[in-house]
Amino acid sequence: MRSTSSNRTLWALVDCNNFFASCERLFRPDLANRPVIVLSSNDGCVVARSNEAKALGIGMGEPEFKVRPLLRRHTVAVFSSNFALYGDISARVMRTMESLVPHVEQYSIDEAFIPLTGPLAANADELAGTLRKRVAGWTSIVTSIGLGTTRTLAKLASDAAKKSGGVLRLEAGTAGTDAMLAQTPVGEVWGIGRRSVEKLRLRGILTAKNLRDADDGKTRKLLSIAGLHTALELRGISCVSRTEIPASRRTMVSSRSFGQRVTDKEHLAEALAMHAANVGERLRREKLLCGAITVHIRTSRYGQGPFYDETTQIGLPFPTASTKDLIRATREGLESIFRPGFSYAKAGIMLFDLISRNALQGSLAEAVAPGADAKRRDRELMRVLDAANRKFGRGALRFAAEGGADAPWQASRSKRSPHWTTVWEDLLLVR
Ligand SMILES: [Mg+2]
Repeated sequence: MRSTSSNRTLWALVDCNNFFASCERLFRPDLANRPVIVLSSNDGCVVARSNEAKALGIGMGEPEFKVRPLLRRHTVAVFSSNFALYGDISARVMRTMESLVPHVEQYSIDEAFIPLTGPLAANADELAGTLRKRVAGWTSIVTSIGLGTTRTLAKLASDAAKKSGGVLRLEAGTAGTDAMLAQTPVGEVWGIGRRSVEKLRLRGILTAKNLRDADDGKTRKLLSIAGLHTALELRGISCVSRTEIPASRRTMVSSRSFGQRVTDKEHLAEALAMHAANVGERLRREKLLCGAITVHIRTSRYGQGPFYDETTQIGLPFPTASTKDLIRATREGLESIFRPGFSYAKAGIMLFDLISRNALQGSLAEAVAPGADAKRRDRELMRVLDAANRKFGRGALRFAAEGGADAPWQASRSKRSPHWTTVWEDLLLVR
């Protein structure tokens, strides 16, 4: 049963399977059938598992010492995180997809949303197959693709696609989708966190279907506007915009193609500083700190001139959510990978090793760490910055390092609709 009209956007969510573990295997064919796991940056916990490792019962996020006997018994290949490698492979996967579709919205290191309209939407299943084949062929990374009439449905579909041949489609109003939503615990719905699950449970809302069918007023009261948007998305009504996409739990990405080609290092530095400000704000909103960052710059694969594509990792001395620290790190990364004489088409950053701020704040380790006073002042500065930008609109207050809104690297946004719901200046005036 197909009901996609050609004027509606269909969303594809492409997700790389077991991404970090798959990256580790790329250059190690001897590991093809061996269980593989990747540990967090201090080798503390398991952050990625191959299918074989999952089958052994090794849990996501489990401390390494707890599973050590299991690792030995089954000769599991254990890797420390290599974020520069993952960042680079991620960029290749995204670039490969860009060779088939006009827009790729990278969501996390191993996931991207792709809006499909017109003929692309009409032939979505075929296109999804082609995308999977090309990504596997060009990068050796296996993907799962979810198709849905909203981003939330596409995200759910991609989770299910892992067990059903790689591509799955969820369209609101079909019996298949109803059955699937009835089986899905509400906590597995995109954007529904642990605290929301608890609130919903008390109201008897246990499955995705329960949430979809709940009373709008109640949902809004319980979970605020973002929760209501999620419920509407489960009904097939698109309302999650790019700026309110919930952060991924493991990694955070900000990257974008430039409006025009960029050759000047200072312009690249500005673009990277803008990305740093963007993810810094998201980190603070989600009460997270990041432990490592990668910087990525590249030319266009199809433009004239020589091709250049480089990713580097910068360690952060202490987990941080400060835009200042992030800008400093992007500058350091840029200095190490910038080569003059290229026409750059894209720059971006990724954050890794995200941890909850509460896990660290107020700890003795933090209080006695070098520069504790400076850190406190910095946190206060960020609080003021965020408050001002919430009140007066994104970018109202920003670092000089970010450059101006008319810089050549700024994406052309002439077709962008106003931020109706998130920026004061864009609110509709009713007279
Ligand atoms: Mg994945």
